[in-house]
Amino acid sequence: EEALRESEGRYRALVNLGAEVGEAITMGQDTEQGEGILIFVSDEWSRITGYSERELLGMSFFDLVHPKDRGASLERHHRKMHGEAMSGLFELSIVRKDGTEVPIELTSAYTTYKGERAEVAYIRDITERKQAEKKLRVAEENFRNSLDNSPLGVRIVTAEGELIYANKAILDIFGYSSLEELETTPTKERYTSKSYAEYQERKQKRKLGKPIPSTYEISIVHKNGEVRHLSSSRKEVMWDGEVQYQTIYQDITERKQVEENAREVEVLKRLEKLRTELLATVSHELRTPLATIKGYSTMLLDYDTRLKHNEKRRYLGSIDRATDRLVELIDQLLDMSRMDAGLTVMEKAPTSITRLLREAVVESQIRTPQHKLVLNIPKRLPRINVDGKRIRQVVDNLIDNAAKYSNEGTEIVVSAQLLRQRLQIDITDQGVGIFPQELSKVFDRLYRSQQRLTPGTRGVGLGLAISKRLVEAHNGKIWLKSKVGEGSTFYFSLPHKKYKRRIKHDKEA
Ligand code: ADP
Repeated sequence: EEALRESEGRYRALVNLGAEVGEAITMGQDTEQGEGILIFVSDEWSRITGYSERELLGMSFFDLVHPKDRGASLERHHRKMHGEAMSGLFELSIVRKDGTEVPIELTSAYTTYKGERAEVAYIRDITERKQAEKKLRVAEENFRNSLDNSPLGVRIVTAEGELIYANKAILDIFGYSSLEELETTPTKERYTSKSYAEYQERKQKRKLGKPIPSTYEISIVHKNGEVRHLSSSRKEVMWDGEVQYQTIYQDITERKQVEENAREVEVLKRLEKLRTELLATVSHELRTPLATIKGYSTMLLDYDTRLKHNEKRRYLGSIDRATDRLVELIDQLLDMSRMDAGLTVMEKAPTSITRLLREAVVESQIRTPQHKLVLNIPKRLPRINVDGKRIRQVVDNLIDNAAKYSNEGTEIVVSAQLLRQRLQIDITDQGVGIFPQELSKVFDRLYRSQQRLTPGTRGVGLGLAISKRLVEAHNGKIWLKSKVGEGSTFYFSLPHKKYKRRIKHDKEA
């Protein structure tokens, strides 16, 4: 009866432990022979320890425990004996008969044996699990190592932007000595102002769920003040089992520098080519008026007394026009090279556009009496802050072109209108027009229409290039519309602040 009760008690304890028959179960009791004397062992328990059932019975459980775990194991046993509630799994190692160490997992419960308290323990060999854990740890360590020592900067942040991980390269890229320093330095200080604005924009877009390219460039300010360029790419990653955001930074400052140098070389090459072309075109264009001057002046010298008065005047007139032409050409060349060298300073002052256009039209009408110049402007135009001489040069150039590329007797209309924050000036002719494929090229230097519709028109193709640069130096824009055979309109606009706005602004201030 007693044996039956004990057996039943043992099984009840096993059920409490969640163990199954056939698993490694043992039962120990504190007796005069020592603590944890084994009084029952299952077959599986023999398999784990390598001892036979007979060898095991009478041995102390604690003698089987690996010396490194023995102290802790005994302490736990004592605390449990003193009634301290202790449940759960306990990991320790035991030493097999052959001397090898086996990691096990143990859980135990109390039962009664021969009227005395005994402890039923359920153990499991966890060698494989331990090995798997070690492998995992090594794999993780390898991964961490490669991340920590990667030459690419790696940062992991939460969706809210809280920093979870940053590797060493990040610190090097920014020049900080610790993560705290990186974290406590505001982003605004670490980015160039342009990059900071873009960063804000990305943040905003992210918030609104708008798409953002996963790779972008940023410019940062190194702790030593140097600006460095990084290519960064951001993507979702699993980190500690949760979705976080990983950004990888690559320092591309040097690469950018190389690209920049290559671009500069390209620009220099193009400039060199342009210079050669310019020289060829200019020499040709200079020769024509020079030949005229030389021819007529030689004639005047050689046949001085034999020439009639009106003949002399005609020759002198030709010399005079050829000289004007030379002066114009040389002025254009000087203008262009001064602008190239960045020597052109705009002397801006409040300028009456009405007066400027009126004078331009009156003087152009004298230069080209065969065309009909029309001025079409509103009654009141405000003064605007420009370099009057330069804007006049643009207007003159556009009117001269209009005359050059249109038939005598046609109209050239100069008009102006005030738009919201711009003043727009248009010059319309009824001339030969420009082919659509040439529209974008006419502002290039040295560009002259391939199909010169009016033969013999003089010019080297610098006028519009100069005009464009002058308008742009005023933060303005220049463009055109044209139809072959019908005529062209050249437009340019200059920024202009409405007075009303400024008054309002002043009040607010
Ligand atoms: P240039 O008049 O000295 O050739 P520009 O730079 O002033 O140089 O003009 C470049 C080219 O644009 C001209 O050669 C001409 O083909 C074209 N062009 C300029 N203005 C007009 C216009 N009003 N009508 C037709 N073609 C024009």
